[in-house]
Amino acid sequence: MTEEIHSMCSRCAKRTCTPFIKSNEAPVKDGAPDFCPMKLMPDVLENVKEEYRKPDVQEFARLASVQEYECYERVDGGMRTKNPRILELIQFAKKNDYHKLGLAFCGGLAKEAQMLTDVLENKGFEVISVCCKVGAEPKESIGIRSEEKIMGPDNFESMCNPIAQAELLNRQNIDFAVLLGLCIGHDTLFIKYCESPMTVIAVKDRVTGHNPLAALYLTSSMYYSRLMTKEEY
Ligand code: SF4
Repeated sequence: MTEEIHSMCSRCAKRTCTPFIKSNEAPVKDGAPDFCPMKLMPDVLENVKEEYRKPDVQEFARLASVQEYECYERVDGGMRTKNPRILELIQFAKKNDYHKLGLAFCGGLAKEAQMLTDVLENKGFEVISVCCKVGAEPKESIGIRSEEKIMGPDNFESMCNPIAQAELLNRQNIDFAVLLGLCIGHDTLFIKYCESPMTVIAVKDRVTGHNPLAALYLTSSMYYSRLMTKEEY
């Protein structure tokens, strides 16, 4: 049986898709590795071009790239970054003429949600927010056993309710949803049910101050080298 080749950009050393050439030159894609999606599925890339020709999609993509551009500045000696993501969020929302922002946040980051609401309101946005525990439904209602409750078997524990977060924001006709600190899986459900465009301002990582890449950066030291040990799955 021959093994099917699948795209593996994360293993690519050639980066043929990011050529350092002048704008009047054309990228040469032949040198890409065999696992390059440009070689494996050129039809997909052709179809995607059609999608970008839709005026609303093209405009959204254009504004996203303008936003990307504005996050850098050329200075003597090179290029440097200048905007934290929260500022990027404000700028991008204004570019798109979004006024009503829907903040879906984790109850564990209520303080941060309050601060973010202050920032966004101070910049002129209306902020509609919904906490993950909305509904106060017991975790048992989705089949969680008492020994699986974080606060112990004898205590009531509200389930995280990302579907309700999404539907409540859908009902309030938000322009743009912002996710703050939802857990893995809960964020998946929110994304599935949210009907508006959305972005993530921060993901939850309980041990790194919500910076999951910190653990990645520590894999070469003893602190998180265990992430690299091989396991059967
Ligand atoms: S698209 Fe092709 S050239 Fe670009 S990173 Fe992926 S495999 Fe490498």
